[in-house]
Amino acid sequence: MQEFVIIGGGQCGARAALALRDQGFDGHITLIGEERHLPYERPPLSKKHLMSSVESEPSFVVSSETFAERSIAIVTSDAAVGLDRESRSVQLASGRSVSYDKLLLATGSTPRKLPSVEGMDHAFYLRTHDDAQCLSQRLVAGGHLVIIGAGFIGLELAAAARQRGLDVTVLEALPRILMRAVPEAIAALVHALHEAHGVRLLCNTSVGTIEAHTAGMSLALSNGEILDATTLVVGIGAEPRCELARQAGLAVENGIAVNTALQTSDPAIFAAGDCCSFPYQGKRIRLEAWRNAQDQGAHASANMLGAEAPYEVVPWFWSDQYDFSLQIAGLASGAACTFRRQIDEETMILFHLGDDQRLLAASGWARGNTIARDIKLAEMLIAQRAKPAPEALASPAVSLKSLLSRS
Ligand SMILES: Cc1cc2nc3c(=O)[nH]c(=O)nc-3n(C[C@H](O)[C@H](O)[C@H](O)COP(=O)(O)OP(=O)(O)OC[C@H]3O[C@@H](n4cnc5c(N)ncnc54)[C@H](O)[C@@H]3O)c2cc1C
Repeated sequence: MQEFVIIGGGQCGARAALALRDQGFDGHITLIGEERHLPYERPPLSKKHLMSSVESEPSFVVSSETFAERSIAIVTSDAAVGLDRESRSVQLASGRSVSYDKLLLATGSTPRKLPSVEGMDHAFYLRTHDDAQCLSQRLVAGGHLVIIGAGFIGLELAAAARQRGLDVTVLEALPRILMRAVPEAIAALVHALHEAHGVRLLCNTSVGTIEAHTAGMSLALSNGEILDATTLVVGIGAEPRCELARQAGLAVENGIAVNTALQTSDPAIFAAGDCCSFPYQGKRIRLEAWRNAQDQGAHASANMLGAEAPYEVVPWFWSDQYDFSLQIAGLASGAACTFRRQIDEETMILFHLGDDQRLLAASGWARGNTIARDIKLAEMLIAQRAKPAPEALASPAVSLKSLLSRS
């Protein structure tokens, strides 16, 4: 009987295991995770899991009963520490060894560390359920939360902390927030929303010396200010978990390098989710996004079964802050021009076109989830490699559905 092994018990690994069964695989499946929990969803960790200090269970991808019914063997609290490609076996920290015919690396990513806060009691990162539980205990009114890094996770945390009554300061070394992934016009709206909720947002501000004291820490800022924090959270990005791949001699290039079939430089080993970099429209990219983890997990499993299908899904990402949602389909980097569709005072979409007029990406901002349908339609246009007329994109009177080609 065939042995398929998945390393990484996160969103991607769990989806891949379930998809293998959906596609009729009847061999053994072993899913190896180093965390103590069954696979769970990470997006709620910076949203609803921070809203209360009452301890909560993770939002599991599926229940333990479902894994059992589908004959998926789950290993928790045991890390894969070695990979022998010649004997096709994985060594676990517990001393156990697991053989594979096909292997999927779904090892995810880990927060980029700030060495100057190493070992400090009041400094945290946010990646795991246990991190979120620990932070949610500390988000008690009266404290001062300082967040280093105005990326998605830092800003979602800022929103939750303000709603729980804390003073919040966000420090960003770059000239504006969400510099990496969000167009300036939308970042400006997000910035204004946070300030309206009382967050102090300091851009162009880096952190020098950090001194720990019993009740918190003092941060020396590049603007000369000394800032006291009761809790410090570092949110300066994430790095792909490539240690096993590197040790096994697989190609690594800003993530475990895979081809369009999500296959690594060893044909028996696939990689998917946050940990891998893959070809997309002539570039090699790596995404840290829930749906990418979900889709790539299912796609890799089909290819482990021999489908050899290229992965060509349009990237999609969302972030919720206060009552608003930001959604981005496609990748705006490389866009030659942008057109704005202002749907109402609180709702807008930016369409990003390449120099050949092709739609590359759409970035939407709205209260609640009202933008979802239009972003879905934009995603379909991007997948069709459509070249819609800019004036049609900019006019709320033109339905995006009418721009889709029917063929
Ligand atoms: C707080 C937070 C909020 C987020 N919010 C959003 C959002 O709003 N929208 C969005 O699109 N995306 C969001 N994301 C991103 C999304 O959750 C990730 O892209 C997704 O979880 C990636 O799934 P993954 O399975 O590839 O990696 P992970 O979820 O990181 O799972 C990888 C797992 O593998 C384990 N592992 C690693 N190495 C080993 C090893 N050697 N042996 C055994 N186990 C190992 C890790 O411990 C981990 O449990 C958020 C992420 C975080 C952290």
